[in-house]
Amino acid sequence: MKPLHVFLVSLGEYLKTAPSTPPPVGILSLAAWAREKLRGLRITLLDQRLERINHQEVARRIIQARPDVVGISYMTSADTFVPGITKAVRDALPSCTILLGGSHPAAVQAAAIEGTHADALVSGEGEIAFEMILRAIQDGDTFEHVPGLYRRLPDGSVVRNPGELPIVENLDELPFLAYDLLDVPRYWTVYSQSPIPPPQKQVVLSSSRGCPFPCIFCHKIFGKTFRGQTPERLVDEMEYLKKKYGAERFDFIDDAFIQDKERVYRFSEEVNRRNLRVKLTMPNGLRTDTLTQEVVDAMVAAGLRSCACALDAGSPRIQKLVRKGLNIQRFLDGVEMMARHRVFTYGFMMFGFPTETAEEMQMTIDISRKSLLHMAFFFKATPYPNSGLYDLAMQLCPERMRNLDFTNHDVYYNPVVNLSAVSDEELLYYLRKATRTFFGSPTRLYRFTRDCPHPFRFLQFFPGAIAQSFSRKRGRFRHPVHYPEGPAGL
Ligand code: SF4
Repeated sequence: MKPLHVFLVSLGEYLKTAPSTPPPVGILSLAAWAREKLRGLRITLLDQRLERINHQEVARRIIQARPDVVGISYMTSADTFVPGITKAVRDALPSCTILLGGSHPAAVQAAAIEGTHADALVSGEGEIAFEMILRAIQDGDTFEHVPGLYRRLPDGSVVRNPGELPIVENLDELPFLAYDLLDVPRYWTVYSQSPIPPPQKQVVLSSSRGCPFPCIFCHKIFGKTFRGQTPERLVDEMEYLKKKYGAERFDFIDDAFIQDKERVYRFSEEVNRRNLRVKLTMPNGLRTDTLTQEVVDAMVAAGLRSCACALDAGSPRIQKLVRKGLNIQRFLDGVEMMARHRVFTYGFMMFGFPTETAEEMQMTIDISRKSLLHMAFFFKATPYPNSGLYDLAMQLCPERMRNLDFTNHDVYYNPVVNLSAVSDEELLYYLRKATRTFFGSPTRLYRFTRDCPHPFRFLQFFPGAIAQSFSRKRGRFRHPVHYPEGPAGL
């Protein structure tokens, strides 16, 4: 069996305006799966955000390592850098196999490989396909037999193999994430996915895949069928990480952690049976309108300390339009249930959905203010390629969707486009107003300092947030539009 040096990269620049740098769970899982299934692998990981290096340096480090296989995982914001990196690697290492994967390739499929020098693209869940590709390289075989894989032919064209990418049906079969390939304590000095300031002895885990809800602004990488690890398998990994690294906090990036309520109860029992005494955070949020008192009690008993709650929009019309269908009263009740346990909650709200009016933005502000959330993030809606939101925007305001530039964008300061029925200036006004209104409550500030895991570290956050809420410089659209009366035809 041919020994292989595999170099996996999590691509994406560190942005001061979006500083979270969680361990790259996607490539950690690929590495763990591949080395369990195949012999003769040496795997190196590179996390661009953690290293705070530019794309030229990423290419330089790959070339310097002289791997046999490079796997690049990336989101839409890094898409424009992939052609340059793959060209540099191809020129320097002609026989190196270059693979693409991650959320952007999963979204746009074949379009992600166009213009690059990659050999193949995995457009979804990647463990089994990655194993098949590496095995083929070791055996001197082609990738023809890997179902659903996009692969480049000798003439440079790209074809998609018949069939669908195989997925891991039983997530208990996933090995523990390959944290040993990273310098774990380095991640303790930076923001993870939760907004709790470092230092924190935290690790990130994902215990389930697939969310059955149809929200049109969300990704579809893991499909719409929920699959969850058993509580025993999950708690085994937590126990291992606690023993090996001294991890105290576990950030779960599941999309639908509480989808299976029985699993939640058993998870809580298992954590307590083993007396783990850990802190849990849910930075991707729990579907707050489906919370029950029993679920909240179980999560708190397991160690829940902090949780994101996505309201997204306060307007029932917008909720329907984007197919989130959140029950707003139940959302408020869910936040309150957690607040009673002093779980630190932070809301995710978005402004600028297609056709959204000023009155509807005000509804989002009013619901946020009424809620018992401790903190809130007000984002601008972003129509990522191949999402339902993208399709809706193409249908309702195609003139705004031309030449969108997602490079290094973030949803706070460098939004891609304004899809709403108000002008850019008005949208930015509502964003500032939302922050001001939300944080301008003495009761909320009291509850914040009482329940926040590290209130004094957070104090650095407030002056900036308040200043932004008054600053007219906050945010600048890359494609400014001025439709004081809304786009034509709405
Ligand atoms: S409920 Fe959350 S994770 Fe599920 S589809 Fe909607 S936004 Fe995505």
